[in-house]
Amino acid sequence: MTNVDWKKVRAEFPILAQEVNGKPLIYMDSAASSQKPRAVIDAISRYYERDNANVHRGLHELSSRATDAFEGARAKLATYLGAASPDEIIFTRGTTEAINLVANTWGPQNLRSGDVILLTELEHHSNLVPWQMLAARTGATLRFVPLADDGTLAFTPALLDGVKLFAFTHISNSLGTITPAADFCRAAREQGAVTLVDGAQSVGHIPVDVRAMGCDFYAFSGHKMCAPTGSGGLYGRLELLRTIPPWHGGGEMIVSVTYERATYKQPPAKFEAGTPNIAGAVGLGAAVDYLEALERPAIFAHDSALTAHAIALLAEIPGVRVLGPTGARGALVAFHAEWAHPHDLTTYANEHGLALRGGHHCNQPLMRKLGYPGTTRASFYFYNTTAEVERMADILRGAHKFFDA
Ligand code: PLP
Repeated sequence: MTNVDWKKVRAEFPILAQEVNGKPLIYMDSAASSQKPRAVIDAISRYYERDNANVHRGLHELSSRATDAFEGARAKLATYLGAASPDEIIFTRGTTEAINLVANTWGPQNLRSGDVILLTELEHHSNLVPWQMLAARTGATLRFVPLADDGTLAFTPALLDGVKLFAFTHISNSLGTITPAADFCRAAREQGAVTLVDGAQSVGHIPVDVRAMGCDFYAFSGHKMCAPTGSGGLYGRLELLRTIPPWHGGGEMIVSVTYERATYKQPPAKFEAGTPNIAGAVGLGAAVDYLEALERPAIFAHDSALTAHAIALLAEIPGVRVLGPTGARGALVAFHAEWAHPHDLTTYANEHGLALRGGHHCNQPLMRKLGYPGTTRASFYFYNTTAEVERMADILRGAHKFFDA
């Protein structure tokens, strides 16, 4: 691992050098959306200032530059995720759209009444609602891997009986649980089930190698990994992508069209109808370069140290219960404070320049299961510092005095 100067890295994020409510901004909501380094902002500006044109269609210089930048970003992503080929990367607006793509293409083609879709009790609404909609459409049923008391999943291979698809989160956005993705994928494969991994919280935080993981699909969002909103994608195993029908119809995904019918291109073009988010892909490519230079093991080590420190400090505040596993976990900590509602607590934090998130975190069934209306969550990235974690704890100690007076 390289020795990174995290202070210097932090200075590359212009947004962090500001005050909010007269206090230095402490941004601890990166699980919702990360901030962007100058390198990504500049790559997008440069694209619009020099290269902007539509891709794949013009024979002029700018179109060919835009196409190179767009396809270059796809190739970078393929390497970053350990895919066998850039053709396995489909650009989407993010994780939600990537999951809906699979639910609307592979889903109706492969599921029949009585088939089972296996999910987990940890899933974000993005990896739950599309499968509910697919189940209603096909007559398939949903089954859930139960949550164990320690915040991990109580998986047993028997849960895979009759399962056609196992879709699960890689890192829980509410509890920080890191699921044993390679083990789950192996067990599913042994039963002939297809796997989809929701990588929204892992893609920018831990090393990801889709082939070592053995998944069939991996969905991810650019905006959680230093890239712009509206960028992201789906990794799909090429043999599988070749067999499934397209989702959206339109320009660029066809080989030939008559008034009556059309033939489609090979993946990934088959799944990318219309003008794509070219600037988003350019920004995503720049974000991949940026994260690769920092090295993901170093990012994970830095984030893990911050998270462990935050957990230790929070646990000392009276009436605070820290949720989630005690072992290795994602770069976030959610907690319940018995003396304040999460919305009141996050409003109080905001007055001190601290950006936390309070609520159900798009995990309503999980919150119901945990017995809380919502939680308060601090989520970290490599630009956060130990001093910020300590300041967060100070602010929350102040909140305890304020609310519990
Ligand atoms: N899955 C998980 C685990 C998430 O945390 C999120 C966003 O918070 C999503 C899916 C949805 O991502 P997006 O809104 O970028 O599509």
